[in-house]
Amino acid sequence: MWLTTERARLRLAKEKRLFSASSAGEIPICLVYPNRYPVGMANLGFQAAYKILAQDPRCRCERAFLPDPDEALVLRRTATAWASLENQRPLLDFELLAFSLSFETDYLHILNILAAAHIPLLAREREEHHPLVIAGGPATFLNPEPVADFIDLFLIGEGEEMIPEFLERYAQVRTSKLSRKDKLITLSDIEGAYLPLLFTPHYDEQGRVARVDYRGTGTPTVRRRLVKNLDVYPTTSQILTPETVFGDMYLVEASRGCEWGCRFCAAGFMYRPVRYRSTESLKQSVAEGLQERSTIGLIGAEMASQPGIAAVCEFIGQAGGRASPSSLKADVITQDLAHALGVQHNRSVTIAPEAGSERMRRIINKNLTEPEILRAAEWLVGSGVQSLKLYFMVGLPTETLEDVEGIADLTAKIHSKFCESKAKVGDVTLSVNAFSPKPWTPLQWEPMAEIPRLREKLAGLRKRLACLPRVTVDTESPREAYYQTLLSRGDRRTSQVLLEMHRNGGDWWSVIQRLRRTAKTWTTPSPQHPIASTLNPDFFVHRRYGSEEIFPWDFIDHSVSKQYLWVEWRKALLERQTPPCDVTTCHSCEAC
Ligand code: SF4
Repeated sequence: MWLTTERARLRLAKEKRLFSASSAGEIPICLVYPNRYPVGMANLGFQAAYKILAQDPRCRCERAFLPDPDEALVLRRTATAWASLENQRPLLDFELLAFSLSFETDYLHILNILAAAHIPLLAREREEHHPLVIAGGPATFLNPEPVADFIDLFLIGEGEEMIPEFLERYAQVRTSKLSRKDKLITLSDIEGAYLPLLFTPHYDEQGRVARVDYRGTGTPTVRRRLVKNLDVYPTTSQILTPETVFGDMYLVEASRGCEWGCRFCAAGFMYRPVRYRSTESLKQSVAEGLQERSTIGLIGAEMASQPGIAAVCEFIGQAGGRASPSSLKADVITQDLAHALGVQHNRSVTIAPEAGSERMRRIINKNLTEPEILRAAEWLVGSGVQSLKLYFMVGLPTETLEDVEGIADLTAKIHSKFCESKAKVGDVTLSVNAFSPKPWTPLQWEPMAEIPRLREKLAGLRKRLACLPRVTVDTESPREAYYQTLLSRGDRRTSQVLLEMHRNGGDWWSVIQRLRRTAKTWTTPSPQHPIASTLNPDFFVHRRYGSEEIFPWDFIDHSVSKQYLWVEWRKALLERQTPPCDVTTCHSCEAC
């Protein structure tokens, strides 16, 4: 075990913690990020949850991550159980294991970590002495069902709102004589808690959810919880380390949600109503960050709409730093903002047209025209920004070849803004992803496009753009998008598919291929026909869900009505746009 202990020691030595933690609490809890250390440490949600737990006087909180490949090998060879980063304490010895889940594609890692920790993968097989395995994070807000067999209890809502209440209740039950199951039932009383063992889904002969039996008290609805005033909880980098995917950046969360309602985007619906931090609060966080790092990453679903963003970027520049906002919506970029970013010699700014044609941008409700995109590119390039990153998608509903060609045409026009400017010709990088339908969005009913079709479109795009100098096309593999869609739109039965992938050494694509070949129809599970060998994953990925269908995630109350999402879907197909949120007067989706 020398390898893992030494690596943990080196990592801890390189960290700088910006808050003081309590170490005297009675509740041993391990916060787990289901990916490797550099990925987890770049996640603001994980860092925020860690600070809340580590500062709570009731807790003794440590962290754990997915073992690195060489560590996993050592653990297997020596039959040693995986342990926490801080004290190398086996995960099995904690009372609580809390998974922070941001991305569906990390789900398989939950199984790897539990197996490495010698903890039964299935919640129903755990015994009294095992830790309670809880989970929260954005992926669980959308649809926790694909991992419901592995998690004892979910906390569906923002951590600042839920974690203190959970700890309060847990502190009351932990030393009681209640059984593990009764403790979980008591904890499930917390608003936003979801205890899968109280919910049993049933399926019809076509494999769709027919009904969900609920055995708890109260209503079978779980209301996801949000913080009202973000200024009360500044969310910034709390532990600095050179070993993160964001390198030397200090991260400041500026907002949650988005006012624009792009119809493919989960963040625009799951966090409604949008909440922005005040300029004063942002400047305060930025000033603290500039004590530590010169580059400030401003994080939000869409940063150009953030009130006071140009002033915050100027403030960073005047202090000798550099602002690095996440994606900007082109039509709300002002000349002041472009100037503030340009004078700081920003290497790269990201704008997200998402689609190449006006028609497709109307379908996805981008509320963005080509002249607006070109004007933003001109301002950014003219003010000194050295390169632009552009986000696009292919495989959107009703997409034609002309829509895909539109991506290449628009890129060529943006590229020409560099050529026209006196500045040195910069880079244009396209990041092109396949559309993956997400729960709680108006496009949740739509199927993902077939993989061969997506490949053709991506290849065509690369070919069209190959002649433009300094234009790079980065594409996500359509297989990854398939995997992501399966885990986004799956139901409780998807847990069995994950189990099969885990048994197959993590080779998820060969399991998907086998299931697609052998499982033509869904059949009722039985000992003779284990569900993982009869469930075709295309059912969740390539099927248009019925307009009356019960979704696996319908039990969550996001405040946004399903009827509103349905109307938005119909408007998409009619190419009609919806204006951005006006939280002062509007009640249309019912979130305000
Ligand atoms: S009620 Fe209106 S303003 Fe509020 S989140 Fe819904 S659409 Fe946006």
